[in-house]
Amino acid sequence: MRHLSKSKLLAFRQCPKRLWLEIHRPDLRADSAATEASFQIGHQVGDIARQIYDPQHQGILIDVQTEGFQQAFERSTALLNFDQPIFEAGFSAGGALAFADVMLPENIDGKRVWHIVEVKSSTCVKDYHRDDVAVQAFVARTAGVALHSIALAHIDSSWTYPGDEDYSGLLIENDLTTEAFARTQEVKAWIEKAQQTAASLTEPAIETGSHCDTPYACGFDGYCRRNEPQAQYPIHWLPHLGAKARGLAAQGVTELADVPDDLLSPKQLRVKTHTLSNTVYFDSAGAAADLAMHPLPAYFLDFETVQFAVPIWRGTRPYQLNTYQFSLHTLSASGQLGHTEFLDLSGGDPSESLAHALIASCGTRGPVFVYNAAFETTRINELAVRFAALRDALLAINARVVDLLPIARERYYHPSQQGRWSIKKVLPAVVPELRYDALEGVQDGGMAMEAFLGFPLKAGHLAISMGYVLFAHVVFLAVEAHPFGRLAIQRHQETENLTDVLLR
Ligand code: SF4
Repeated sequence: MRHLSKSKLLAFRQCPKRLWLEIHRPDLRADSAATEASFQIGHQVGDIARQIYDPQHQGILIDVQTEGFQQAFERSTALLNFDQPIFEAGFSAGGALAFADVMLPENIDGKRVWHIVEVKSSTCVKDYHRDDVAVQAFVARTAGVALHSIALAHIDSSWTYPGDEDYSGLLIENDLTTEAFARTQEVKAWIEKAQQTAASLTEPAIETGSHCDTPYACGFDGYCRRNEPQAQYPIHWLPHLGAKARGLAAQGVTELADVPDDLLSPKQLRVKTHTLSNTVYFDSAGAAADLAMHPLPAYFLDFETVQFAVPIWRGTRPYQLNTYQFSLHTLSASGQLGHTEFLDLSGGDPSESLAHALIASCGTRGPVFVYNAAFETTRINELAVRFAALRDALLAINARVVDLLPIARERYYHPSQQGRWSIKKVLPAVVPELRYDALEGVQDGGMAMEAFLGFPLKAGHLAISMGYVLFAHVVFLAVEAHPFGRLAIQRHQETENLTDVLLR
C-alpha cells in the first residue's frame, strides 16, 4: 500500500480528481505564480519558527531531501528518545505520512511527551488547517509518538517588529488538541477513500466548480477546463453581478448577449452595450465637470510597495505594505510638466526618507491625483503614524488627494476593459502606446515587488512608468474641456510618442 503524504490527503479533501492527477499525471500540473510565491513565504516563516522555538539552537532538523524518506523516518523515531526540539520530523503510519514542523519535548509526570506545532504563514486559523492538524496528529499517534498536544501557529498581523532579530512575538499558537484527537475516525476514512482513489486506474469524473479555487487554486485547472466551451463575451465581465451571476449561470446563461437588460444596473448595461457594439463610452463633459473644481498646480502620484510576511524593518508589521518608491508628475500653474521620483532599493527601511521626499515634492497646494485613493492615503496615514514629526505635513497631502478611479468608472468605458477599471485594463485602452505589459519589467505589482527583492529590472523604468499611468488618465479624463486635458492633448499631438514627452 502506498503511504499518502499529508499534502496528498489535503489535495484529496479538496477534490479526489486532484489527488488522482497528482499521482498519475503530475506533468499536467501548472501552479500559478501566486501559488509558487506562497510556497516561498511558507519556507521563510518555517525558518523563523525554528529560531523562535529553539532560541538555544539545540534542536535537530530532519532534511528528507538529503536523507531520503526511510532514513528521515528512522532518525525521527530515534530522536524521540532525547530531550531536544525536532524540526520536520517524519512519521509514516496508518497509510499516510507526515512531517511535523516543530516537535517540542515536555515532561509530564516524569514522562517525556511531545507538543507538535504546525506553522502557517496565514494570519488566522482556516478550516483546512484544522484538517491538516488532524492528519498530523493521527499519523504521529499511530506511529507511536507520545503526543500530548498539538497546535497551529499563524502570523500575528498586529505584532510590530521591535528589531534586532527579535521575532518572539511573530506567531500566535492555537491549541487544536481536543478537536484533532476527536477526528481520528474521520481521518481514517479520508485515508481509506484517498487510497482507493490513488489505486484507481481511471481518472475520477469530477466537474470543475468553486472547489477548484478553494482552499487552494488547483494547478490542474487548465487541464480540467480544456474542453469547456468559452463564452465570447462572458457574463462575469459585468461588474458587481454578485448573486445574479450565480442565478444566470444556473440557467445556463454564459454570454453577455443573453442577459436581459432589465436585470442590469445602468453601469452594467453600459458595459453590456459597449462591449457588444465594440464602441467606447466617454462622457467628456461629465469628466471635465468632475475635474473643473481642481485647479493647477496639480500633482499625479503613484506608490510602489513591498510586503514581507516576516518583517525586516523595525517598527513594521507582518504583511504591511511598505512604500519604497513613488513617482510624482507635476503640472505647474503655467503648464510646465515635471517629474520627481523616489526609489530606495538599498535594502534599508526607506519609509522615513520617502516621507521627507514626498512632503518636499508635493508642495502645499493643488490637487494630488491618484488612481484608487484608498491605497495611497492608507500608506500616507501609516507613515504619519510612524513618524510623528511628519504627521501634519503628511496628513495635509492626504487632504488634497483626488481619486481618478471613480471618475474613470463613471465617465469612461472601452470594450477591451472587459468590465474592469483596474489600471492594467484602462491604460492600454486609453493610451495604447503605453501598454502596461510593454513597459520593461512592469507587469503588475508583483513584478514591482520582485524588482525590490533584487530581480534584474531597471528600477528607473518602474518609477517613470507609474507617472505615465497617471498622466494618461488625465489625458482622457479632462480632454479639451479642462486646462489639463488641453495641455496634455496638445503635447500628445506634438509628438508621435507620449513617452518621449514624459521623459523630457
Ligand atoms: S481543477 Fe477542479 S476539478 Fe480539476 S482536479 Fe482541480 S479541483 Fe478537481
